[in-house]
Amino acid sequence: MENRVVQGRMVTPAALAELIEGADVMDAEPIEDADRDCPDCGGDVLEVGYMPSITTFVTGRKCQECDWSETDRE
Ligand SMILES: [Zn+2]
Repeated sequence: MENRVVQGRMVTPAALAELIEGADVMDAEPIEDADRDCPDCGGDVLEVGYMPSITTFVTGRKCQECDWSETDRE
């Protein structure tokens, strides 16, 4: 399954990555379920790997229910 519902709307992997990044991304991998709950609302968390630039790979996580997100960027 490629597209997932986030905060009430269907998103592609690239659209989810752009929500997390707050900017356009070059490429995104399929969305997966992160094995954790949102620290803010307890909702389900999705995970997506993406490339904000040609030399960078980031794993981002985003709650399906609220605005919470994070990345593994240092
Ligand atoms: Zn949440």
